[in-house]
Amino acid sequence: MQLNFHTFYLSILLIMCSGVPLAAQSGFDAERAFEDLHAQCDLGPRNPNSDGAQAAIQFYSSILKPLADTLHLQNFQMDDPYSSEQLNLTNIVARFQPKKTQRIILCAHWDTRPRAEYDPTAPTRPMIGANDGASGVAILLEIARQLQSNPVNPGIDIILFDGEDYGEPRDLEHYLLGSRYYVEHPFKPMAQRVILLDMVGDAELTIKVDPVSYRSAPRLIEEIWALANDIGYDQFQLVTGASMYDDHVPFIEKGIQAIDIIDFEYPGPNNAYWHTHDDTPDKCSAESLEAVGNTLLSWLYQQ
Ligand SMILES: [Zn+2]
Repeated sequence: MQLNFHTFYLSILLIMCSGVPLAAQSGFDAERAFEDLHAQCDLGPRNPNSDGAQAAIQFYSSILKPLADTLHLQNFQMDDPYSSEQLNLTNIVARFQPKKTQRIILCAHWDTRPRAEYDPTAPTRPMIGANDGASGVAILLEIARQLQSNPVNPGIDIILFDGEDYGEPRDLEHYLLGSRYYVEHPFKPMAQRVILLDMVGDAELTIKVDPVSYRSAPRLIEEIWALANDIGYDQFQLVTGASMYDDHVPFIEKGIQAIDIIDFEYPGPNNAYWHTHDDTPDKCSAESLEAVGNTLLSWLYQQ
């Protein structure tokens, strides 16, 4: 398109009058993030010791290696509580400006559940976790791309945790394996604030406030929810939701401010797709990834 001076000045005037929507400013590419959600699911289940897990580590490394200043594969082992095998686990840690002392951790779990206990037909088969696993990671991979082209002021650690969703129901000791390991073996300097994304791809997204997060960092919650609403994302609702036991908890136990951005109603209050084989990409959307990814990135550019 050729731009004559009249349209040029008119465009400038329009921009000045209407303001550039924040949605256009952060650069977050939700379609590309949604492709990364699909790509992870195409690898199959990504539970510990599976072929999918190996392929996923390769996939994340190939994307993050050229983007981050340093990329660490933090490998660790533990006895499998449910078999005689040894579990091989890997946290993926991509650091941006690793010497900065003012830091923020952005994290999500990359593992998927080795079972789908609420599935009516195949409860023992591993699941692919489009929302519960791939969605948070997809957003963080896209944020990593943006951080490389447009750095933010604080140092950022993007951490993809393994073993979040390993435990059998009610066996809380065997959840959060990667984040528990990380808080005992962190890369330093350690961040002052932690933002966790989990189950953020639901096409019917509603993000209420986890009371555990709010007790840890009320101002952080209020800032992010207010910014989301200012941009125009009504998916963020400043009302009390379910209390979450998730990868933010080990950080809170160490005295670090940490919040969980999570929609624990998938798709509605009965959470019908959660830990079933219905947790598939068609139940997720690029629009939902955009609401969370664009809000988070816009907030990062304000820090
Ligand atoms: Zn889960």
